[in-house]
Amino acid sequence: MHTGRIDIDLDAITANVRRLRRLTTARHLMSVVKADAYGHGLVPVARAAVAGGADWLGTAQPREALALRRAGLRERLLTWLLPPGAPIEALLAADIDVSASADWGIDDIARAARRTGRRARVHLKVDTGMGRAGAMPADLPALVHAARQASEAGALEIVGLWSHLAAADDPGHPSLPAQQSAFEQAEQVLTAAGLTPRLRHLANSAGLLEHPHLHYDLVRPGLAGYGLTPVPHLGGPDRYGLRPALTLSAPLLLVKRVAAGQGISYGHTYVTPADTTLGLVPLGYGDGIPRHASNTAQVWVNGRRAPVRGRVCMDQFVVDLGPDAKDAAGARVLVFGPGDHGEPTAQDWADAAGTISYEIVTRLSDRIPRHYQGGGADWAAADPVASGEP
Ligand SMILES: *Cc1c(COP(=O)(O)O)cnc(C)c1O
Repeated sequence: MHTGRIDIDLDAITANVRRLRRLTTARHLMSVVKADAYGHGLVPVARAAVAGGADWLGTAQPREALALRRAGLRERLLTWLLPPGAPIEALLAADIDVSASADWGIDDIARAARRTGRRARVHLKVDTGMGRAGAMPADLPALVHAARQASEAGALEIVGLWSHLAAADDPGHPSLPAQQSAFEQAEQVLTAAGLTPRLRHLANSAGLLEHPHLHYDLVRPGLAGYGLTPVPHLGGPDRYGLRPALTLSAPLLLVKRVAAGQGISYGHTYVTPADTTLGLVPLGYGDGIPRHASNTAQVWVNGRRAPVRGRVCMDQFVVDLGPDAKDAAGARVLVFGPGDHGEPTAQDWADAAGTISYEIVTRLSDRIPRHYQGGGADWAAADPVASGEP
């Protein structure tokens, strides 16, 4: 049995999504639940997001989209990482929208559509400056030509035009107006070819929170739904009325007195300057605790912050409880959470480890048991990803 524990506040997710709904004029909101809902648990989170008003769900991997359908979610669903050989027939049979960035993608989808006898719903992805997925402007005519032919043949319907922002977290970044104009030019290319995508979408969380003119018909928040902010330099989640949903905790396994001069953990990267009390936390990089947080992050125990000392190991790390700590073995250590008690947040851990809060929560291993509170808690046991089913 793992002694660590992840608590997910599903009501917070529902309230966050409801809040995001109010912050947008877009007709549709897609909650992005890729990567096991950023480490929060795919199916319970999807249900909580739907309860908050998400009428679309999005996953990068087809496997997760199919898992949502198997769990009984009936919302519109888009999945976008379709490698050659992707299970497109299964996606179409499950009524899942797919994305295409190149003419070969259209061909694959059209072939699958003919085999299943189902008309595919396709979102054309354009690269408006992100430099990642999507057709470059020069390649768009070929994509549009293939899409139009397949559409006329009845194999598919082009329902969406979409793209992704590179620097929405940096208001004033010159890529923002450039991407907007490239997006609108792409729309004209489609329109000129007789394709009229009803769903134009561009905005991730940062786009939703900071750039209302880029919301178009649908917004695609991921991180903000979990109550974390993609723009920590502008303020915490409360700036937007959001609340972090995830708390990571563990019992203090061992508490012991050590003298000044005690080296701690591998490499003795920390040596106690004075007599003190150490506590052992049974979580490590095997659980997703970043080793880069060695000697920099803090936890919350016995009503105060305690610093991580020495290197984070695979299954454990050490915190300094101070010279006058009482024997606190068994005390609950809050590694991070919403911050209500004074505990660090995922953002604090991100700052300590030189990364982003996305990575802190998404890397948490599914060997740590998840406990769900609130709205959809009944569904926790039905999480096919968390329970390790394919
Ligand atoms: C991950 C992702 C999102 C959500 O991004 P956040 O910054 O978490 O809101 C939206 N769209 C695409 C294509 C993504 O890959």
